[in-house]
Amino acid sequence: MTEHHEEDSYRDHLATVDDKGRRIWVYPKKPKGKFTNYRTWVSYLLLIGLFAIPHIKIDGQPLAQLDVLGRKFILFGNMFFPADNYIFVIITVTLFVSIVLFTVAFGRIFCGWFCPQTIFMEMVYRKIEYAIEGDYKQQIKLDKQDWNFEKVWKKTLKQGLFFGIAFLIANTFLAYIIGADKLWEIQVDDPANHISGLVAITIFSFIFFFVFSKLREQVCTTICPYGRLQGVLLDKDSIVVAYDYKRGEGRAKFRKGEDRAAVDKGDCIDCNQCVVVCPTGIDIRNGTQLECINCTVCMDACDSMMDNVGLDKGLIRYASENEIAEGVGFKWTARMKGYIAVLIILFSAMTYVLTSRNDIQAILLRAPGTLYQKTQDDRFQNMYTIKLLNKTNRDIPVVIKNMNETGEIKIVTSEIILKPQEEMNTVMFIILDKSEIQGFKQGVKIGVYSNGELLETAKSTFVGPMTIN
Ligand code: SF4
Ligand code: SF4
Repeated sequence: MTEHHEEDSYRDHLATVDDKGRRIWVYPKKPKGKFTNYRTWVSYLLLIGLFAIPHIKIDGQPLAQLDVLGRKFILFGNMFFPADNYIFVIITVTLFVSIVLFTVAFGRIFCGWFCPQTIFMEMVYRKIEYAIEGDYKQQIKLDKQDWNFEKVWKKTLKQGLFFGIAFLIANTFLAYIIGADKLWEIQVDDPANHISGLVAITIFSFIFFFVFSKLREQVCTTICPYGRLQGVLLDKDSIVVAYDYKRGEGRAKFRKGEDRAAVDKGDCIDCNQCVVVCPTGIDIRNGTQLECINCTVCMDACDSMMDNVGLDKGLIRYASENEIAEGVGFKWTARMKGYIAVLIILFSAMTYVLTSRNDIQAILLRAPGTLYQKTQDDRFQNMYTIKLLNKTNRDIPVVIKNMNETGEIKIVTSEIILKPQEEMNTVMFIILDKSEIQGFKQGVKIGVYSNGELLETAKSTFVGPMTIN
């Protein structure tokens, strides 16, 4: 244990709350460096995807839509209905297991690279702030100074843009729920016809505005449940953004020409750059902390300092606690490979379930309260309701066929063409000869065909007389 690990008082308080419980506003220094550049490109790709997806259509359907009100979910143009709830269960379990496995192996990498909160905060809102108010020192000065023309226009412009982006996010968020077409209707039609939609947009806009202009890092450090889970998910082999205390401690200011090793100094030159860039206001040299969103900017800041003073980069790097303790670099452990294999299997299974789903759902139900009827030609028949659901966005002509080795079926509606997303019920009979009856109850099966292709099967029971005479 190093000295800094023994002094764990930093764990007793939040870096962004003072002794009196007041918020300490974080003014992070504008980051720059290799990892920041990579993250910027990734974030641009994700942002383009996020805003474009509701407008991209496959077969006239959005690429993705979570239509909570219409109780349907669209993915890659395929519609999923409450009848597909087993798919929701599989997706939910897969995602949950994946998140746990991914976090155990790779820590909070998701937060830094892919989380929408981090992307909007650090790659959109913070960039606007730097562009209008300047870097952290100018921001502090501006906030401290009295209200004058400069402060008024800068703050007005910034908050105006902040709200404009929050409005855009709110619209996109709604497009994922109600669809881009309906959203467009709300935007261009008489507002009186869309009061609830407009109220929703306004409420969401203010929520997003509040999150990104005021709450900021508090979402990650105190509200986000995933962040809170880190304490139980991370272990000493999890990869996190970590400070190499073995190499860095004995921290001391840099002196030109000094042989630091000879005077027992560590590689940390105590420049504080990793702290001033941190958007959650923490000092990574204190060890892994729940507030760390693994955003990599302290890695960039430290690498740039190491470069300046001619020391090796990577004093702060992606590493597990064990790797730091053993003084070794990043290595692909068997555990990581195993977890990745499990993740690939889970996602393949999920993709299979999603893509192999039938276009039609058929449920065969015996008419409630009825037993069997005897027909005029001395056979036995049962009455059924067949429920058909077209899960696609195209017309599907269907034919119901008997899939039992014996018997005959009669259907009330002779020609069925299911309209897109149509759900219809029709009555049908299964008729068996006396000789085909196998007792009081026997299984029956029908097939739903379209253009000669079997799309779905449905099973039920046939009730016959206890004794046949
Ligand atoms: S400690 Fe480093 S990686 Fe963690 S939040 Fe701060 S700057 Fe980002
Ligand atoms: S940036 Fe690197 S050298 Fe500077 S204080 Fe942080 S760990 Fe030490």
